[in-house]
Amino acid sequence: MSIELNAVCKSFGSFEAVRSIDLTIGEGEFVAILGPSGCGKTTLLRMLAGFEQPTSGQILIDGRVVAGSGVMMPPEKRRVGMVFQSFALWPHMNVAEHIRFPIRAHKETPAHIKRNERERVEQVLDLAGLAPLASRMPHELSGGQKQRVSIARAIASEPSLLLMDEPLSSLDAMLRMDMRREIQHVHRRTSSSIVYVTHDQGEALAMADRIIVMKDGKIEQAGTPSEVYLHPQTIFVAKFVSKANLVKGRWINNRFIPENSINTSWSGEGAGSSFKLNRIYPVRPDQFLISQESQAGIIGEIVNIQFQGREFQYHIRSGSDHLEVISSLPFRLYDKVTLSLKQQVG
Ligand code: ATP
Repeated sequence: MSIELNAVCKSFGSFEAVRSIDLTIGEGEFVAILGPSGCGKTTLLRMLAGFEQPTSGQILIDGRVVAGSGVMMPPEKRRVGMVFQSFALWPHMNVAEHIRFPIRAHKETPAHIKRNERERVEQVLDLAGLAPLASRMPHELSGGQKQRVSIARAIASEPSLLLMDEPLSSLDAMLRMDMRREIQHVHRRTSSSIVYVTHDQGEALAMADRIIVMKDGKIEQAGTPSEVYLHPQTIFVAKFVSKANLVKGRWINNRFIPENSINTSWSGEGAGSSFKLNRIYPVRPDQFLISQESQAGIIGEIVNIQFQGREFQYHIRSGSDHLEVISSLPFRLYDKVTLSLKQQVG
């Protein structure tokens, strides 16, 4: 089952929330939509679910137009499961009933699942680790258990597409980590494609096959987690996806030689936002090599150190600029150091 968006736009009055999105999502692919608040992530998800009609453009599921060109297929006919930030559990239903309900209610549930409803409920309870809690009511569950119920309910009828809107944002940090693993586990055991909306960079990098970075209703960059992390195409992506030091330097034989850090408040907007044109490159804290030997690179002084278990986080002052560097090598406060690049970037 594949999903295709062709030039999808959505306006609310004169405000363009989503601007001409082209995107194809493959069968079983896990796509994270990452972007700051208000960039149009939820609007895009709601159009995929069938809660919003695009102003223009088309959405196709398995080659069939489900939205646009005068078509608007309602949500219950799309074989789409949704997991919301708020869990949205029904207070009068126990855990097993939450899973049974969509199997019965959805017209599009495949016949073999409807026929074997009991087995399917048991299978999903098992898969989500909810079997011992099958007869509990929502008020008898912890936050993480509620979220598992909401994921189990969404996958019960084997949707082709699972839409998740910030499903972990209301959980505490420890539980979020556990739930990341659970979602990955569920993904591996179903053939559903997943579109996962988040503004949490770590979540997107850790779980997705592909990340779509959005800004102001448009796709700023799409790529695998390592592509957007190691090869951001714009300053916005570099800084939004993870911490980045903006470094000035020159390319010699296709190798970037850093000379200086630049004011990190530089936004890179306008005509000059190309990294190569500006001789600027975003360098991740772990891409630097710190040395006390004199060599080409950025010269600076260590002005703060934080021990982080396996490595140190150093703040290094170079002229009026500050850089953040992560290294497992021990240095001392006020050591004079030179920074070069560990590996080729660019
Ligand atoms: P967040 O991370 O804060 O949830 P988001 O990226 O999901 O943000 P959307 O909810 O898609 O953003 O909203 C995109 C823009 O569209 C916002 O500026 C929002 O105010 C606007 N918007 C969304 N829904 C409506 C609506 N029904 N009427 C008018 N404006 C809307």
